[in-house]
Amino acid sequence: MDNIIVMKFGGSSVANASAMLNVFNIITSQKCNKLVVLSACKGVTDLLIEAANFSLQNITKSIEIINEISEHHKKIIENTINSELKWKALEKIDVYIRQIREFSEGIHLLQELTAKMMDFFVSFGEKLSTTVFYYILLENKINAVLINSENYIITNSKFGEAEPNYSIIKLKVQNELKPEFDKYDTIIAQGFIGSDLEGRTTTLGRGGSDFSASIYGLALGASEIQIWTDVSGVKSADPRIVEQAITIDEMTIDDIRELSFYGAKVLHPDTIKPAIEAGIPIKVLNTFSPSEQGTIIKENNQGSEPKLHSISVLSEVTKLHFYLDTKRNSSLQIVDILNYLIRRNIKILSSSQSETSFVLFAKLDNQQINNITATYTDYQVEAVEGDLICLVGNNILLDKELLSKLTKQIENYQIDYIQFGINKQLSLLFSKDNTREIIERIHSVIGS
Ligand code: ASP
Repeated sequence: MDNIIVMKFGGSSVANASAMLNVFNIITSQKCNKLVVLSACKGVTDLLIEAANFSLQNITKSIEIINEISEHHKKIIENTINSELKWKALEKIDVYIRQIREFSEGIHLLQELTAKMMDFFVSFGEKLSTTVFYYILLENKINAVLINSENYIITNSKFGEAEPNYSIIKLKVQNELKPEFDKYDTIIAQGFIGSDLEGRTTTLGRGGSDFSASIYGLALGASEIQIWTDVSGVKSADPRIVEQAITIDEMTIDDIRELSFYGAKVLHPDTIKPAIEAGIPIKVLNTFSPSEQGTIIKENNQGSEPKLHSISVLSEVTKLHFYLDTKRNSSLQIVDILNYLIRRNIKILSSSQSETSFVLFAKLDNQQINNITATYTDYQVEAVEGDLICLVGNNILLDKELLSKLTKQIENYQIDYIQFGINKQLSLLFSKDNTREIIERIHSVIGS
């Protein structure tokens, strides 16, 4: 029972019959104990939210959507299960669909839809997908059990964005769930859902199944967590911008944090943090190309070679340049500007200062820029729009050759701002034009 892995499959990995059979092949090729966390089939959570909202005003439309969800799951069963198990699986789906319909009618009657009710409503997406998949496993004589995550992922009562109670989860998982591996080698669990201390259904926020995998991995003391998606791990750049983008073998959680802050669509760092901190590596893999290595995410890679490994870009960013009043204390002026922005919930993407200047980057609309210039009439304020290019790597300042290669690639472009080595991971460049070309050129340094 020592070697347990957690395997999480997202919505597109379980979208339809052929995708589910793909997942079946992947999990049965791994010969160890595994807890398999599934999302709802692609699009189903959105449909459930739509159906719940329609329940208030247009119950006919709501029932239509629920029927569509029913048909979708039944079709997968028809295409994957031939034995008498098919009838059992269809019956289970019917039970859930009946519950959703009754709940929709309840919302209509009460004319009320709270966050608590919404959580219960959307929880059926994962309940349906895991039920279908469980019967596919049984049909193929796999020794599997289907559990209800509401019994293990115990959270607070922040419906829609619930937070896990790690100590209770650990107790339950260790005492009640882990022993199941004495009888079964595969446990199927719903991602995204849990329940509060009073047993009411909660959800962990949109895209929360990664979080579920991380929580289960931590509580089980898993040796590895695999996140199976529809891309081959974390890429060195957006493949729509850089055709030659490659999969990064290894990243740290801080790399992931910087990349997602600066526009790349990767795992949400907070959701994988607990497992990473406990020393459990997380692998990002492609369900539709399972032989590829994917990306492994670890806590840190201290001591490893300086390396540039990825680029992301945030478009339509404003660079604000304040020419400070040299007769006054510059730090106090900067604090005042920062306070102004923070009070208006403006997220500062980066900033730097000197005795005469304060430069910052933020996403601002025209109205916000006008308000800022109207407020700071004592200063000259310059606002320029452009793209913030984010280079994520490891200790690039330590590698003079790498730095000179980077500089060479951009020497013929008008770059409005460069900050190499903001921290161990991050460097930023700001360009007004030719962003695509600049990214392609910088990318050519990766792996060179
Ligand atoms: N089904 C949920 C969603 O669509 C959770 C997930 O897929 O991770 O947000």
